[in-house]
Amino acid sequence: MKIIKFGGKSLANGKGIEQTLAIIQDYTQHKTPIVVVLSARGNTTNQLLKLLHKAQKGLDYSEDWTALKSYQIAPAVAVDLSTEFDLIQRTLQGVALLQDYSPKVQDLILAQGELMATKTVAAILQARSIDSQAVDSRQFLTTDSQFGNAQIQETISEAKTIVFFQQKPLSYLPIVTGFIAANESGTTTTLGRNGSNYSTALLAKYLQADEVINYTHVNGIYTANPEQVPDARIIEKLNYQEANELVSFGASILHARSIVPLMERNIPLRILNTFSPHSQGTYISQYTNNSTIKSVAVQKSVCIINIEGKGLLGQIGIDARIFGTLHLHNINIGVISQGSSEQSVGFVIDIQDSQKAIQALEIEFGKEIKNKAINSILAIKDIAVITVIGQNIQGFSESYQSLINNNIDILLVNNTIHGNNISLVVAEKDVNKAVNSIHSQIFGVAKNINIAVFGKGTVGGTLLAQILSSKAQILKRKEIKLNVFAIAGSQKVLLNKNGIDDNWQQQYNHTAESIDGVQQVIDFAKANHFENLIAIDNTASTTFVQDYSTLVQNGFDLISSNKIANTESYASYQALRQILKQHNKKYLYETNVGAGLPLIDTIKLLHDSGENITRIRGVFSGSLSYIFNHYSVQEQSFSSILQEAIQKGFTEPDPREDLCGNDVARKLLILARELDLENEFEEISIQNLIPESLRGGTAADFLARLEELNAPYRQIKSDQDEEHVLRYIGDLHGDLQQNKGILEVNLVSVPKKSALGQVKGSDSIFEIYTKSYGDNPIVIQGAGAGAAVTARGVFGDLLRIAEKK
Ligand code: ASP
Ligand code: MG
Repeated sequence: MKIIKFGGKSLANGKGIEQTLAIIQDYTQHKTPIVVVLSARGNTTNQLLKLLHKAQKGLDYSEDWTALKSYQIAPAVAVDLSTEFDLIQRTLQGVALLQDYSPKVQDLILAQGELMATKTVAAILQARSIDSQAVDSRQFLTTDSQFGNAQIQETISEAKTIVFFQQKPLSYLPIVTGFIAANESGTTTTLGRNGSNYSTALLAKYLQADEVINYTHVNGIYTANPEQVPDARIIEKLNYQEANELVSFGASILHARSIVPLMERNIPLRILNTFSPHSQGTYISQYTNNSTIKSVAVQKSVCIINIEGKGLLGQIGIDARIFGTLHLHNINIGVISQGSSEQSVGFVIDIQDSQKAIQALEIEFGKEIKNKAINSILAIKDIAVITVIGQNIQGFSESYQSLINNNIDILLVNNTIHGNNISLVVAEKDVNKAVNSIHSQIFGVAKNINIAVFGKGTVGGTLLAQILSSKAQILKRKEIKLNVFAIAGSQKVLLNKNGIDDNWQQQYNHTAESIDGVQQVIDFAKANHFENLIAIDNTASTTFVQDYSTLVQNGFDLISSNKIANTESYASYQALRQILKQHNKKYLYETNVGAGLPLIDTIKLLHDSGENITRIRGVFSGSLSYIFNHYSVQEQSFSSILQEAIQKGFTEPDPREDLCGNDVARKLLILARELDLENEFEEISIQNLIPESLRGGTAADFLARLEELNAPYRQIKSDQDEEHVLRYIGDLHGDLQQNKGILEVNLVSVPKKSALGQVKGSDSIFEIYTKSYGDNPIVIQGAGAGAAVTARGVFGDLLRIAEKK
């Protein structure tokens, strides 16, 4: 025989009760012997409580009462609920009169919910030709008189239940009230909230059922609350001990006492969803499980009470007095923390108890407060407790790190010494983010990386296209979910919490909101509890860098192809690093020099590993590489080669921005600073390739006078030695162990056969000289400019950060 239980939501008017009836009918059609146990329908228990409360306060409850009645009769007009209605109505009048009610009265009123539910369901089944009858569990479930949370008297209850069900074999389908019972004199009691699960377990035990099926409104027990953690998974199998553990941390679809009776008789419990009865659900039984289950539970509505004082140091008996006082006032304590210096004790209690606790402690420690041994007893509110069940402290480091990475302050940590639970206290505002990061660490579900892209020009646009086309692969291969939730142009920002798709350009044009600053993006990320935030600067903006620190302070890691942040004053360079360090954030900018070439990363690695870098030299600019590579070997005028470069889009619109050497100088400075050199831009000696006479005037003026460049460059070319070529290079040298190096940007003549001399096309080349490598530099060479390779480089930075999350 199976015991089938349906909860309130499964019995709610409309789809709920219809589904429930269909499920019951299915069992009867298959002639499966069952006993049905019901909870009150929909939200009835809470509504009854509300009526009592209103009546007691002398408030007008007539509307609520009418609503409750019509809710009850809605599914079956043929049912007679007048006994229950009368009882409720009369009792409410009495409560209103007395302005008071006892737990005993409350139990009687609440019991009507289950009584009405069983009558209703039985009546409908009868109307559908199923011989069913409502069964009042007060006839056999016997308890003590602790109203509201009565304790079962096992021997009597078991005997009575057996007599009721077995000695008088039932010819009909019994629809039994959950939750309610009676004391030995027949007065109604209840088994505590959600108690119909307990009634069900007791019936199963007494009747030696083969199985209990608990039909709920969820698909089973999850690894975390799916409303909080979208990636939460169903736990398919649990053993009784594990289930018990979950119950004590608030898996509310189970009842604290409902596992034990099943365990005693080895009766399995299946949790199914009424609304999708064919999904597998969670199966709880007696089996041995080698791997501990893991689940993340959250308790809200709690607070920390913190007692602090220098006078507590070394005092014996303080803790005993604290806990004794709380005991006296019936206050339950959760996580406890006491530093080894004993100057402060903190513990978690229910928020409802906070005032009571503080008052009681202030009285208990009146003397200590007066003589300043204790300076404060405070409640820290707006917190939540997260418990990871089935997790020992050794395996928790990654989760812990992920919380730190996500800027979540951990107020308290607590682990059970044996057993496998860890509890953390965090601010309530962080709890969603925290639960999600812990959950994804533990279950290895894909990490969500939430990205805001600033700048949607050539590099930005290409990057977005690259992200969109590789997203699926990255999810599969690396379990990293890239979610671009913001795209900001100079005027507008497109925000989408589920991430943009291939249509982003259209969406941007149609739905983007006007941007009033970076705060908009930060607020959006906050509102959506986004973890693992990354901001990417693909703008050419000189002012956006001012927002970098705000982004970092709000939990973003940074990536930029924009060079400004790294080339402003050394002081501001340092200030940003300071903030990054303080907030444990990363800033990657591989594309600042040599686009996607792994240059900065290599230099960083060498430098951090203690390798002594003695010189870095190379062709840093793609456009100038093109110009001199061609001019050196072709019988063409300088102006015609420059024209070609302009036409191919290799230069800036005003080519003087390339020719002046500042861009090369900036890149050189960035590399120098990678080596901890404190140089300023002004200290770089730059050979400007533009003759003085052409430096003023507009771009158009300049473009009209390109031929004036031919004579001087012809001269430079012919002044060279045999088999030599021209290269425009950046050169960092000097004693790089000092605070500052020598930074020079020059047009030089080098042997054609040398590494620099052999560069082709618009490639960049970098020679890194180090102590260990001696005269043979490490050479990094390749395409060092262009939107595609730059975007690739940015993407590389993105994955580098994402993988470390
Ligand atoms: N109806 C009762 C409650 O809401 C019992 C139950 O649902 O299990 O707590
Ligand atoms: Mg690079």
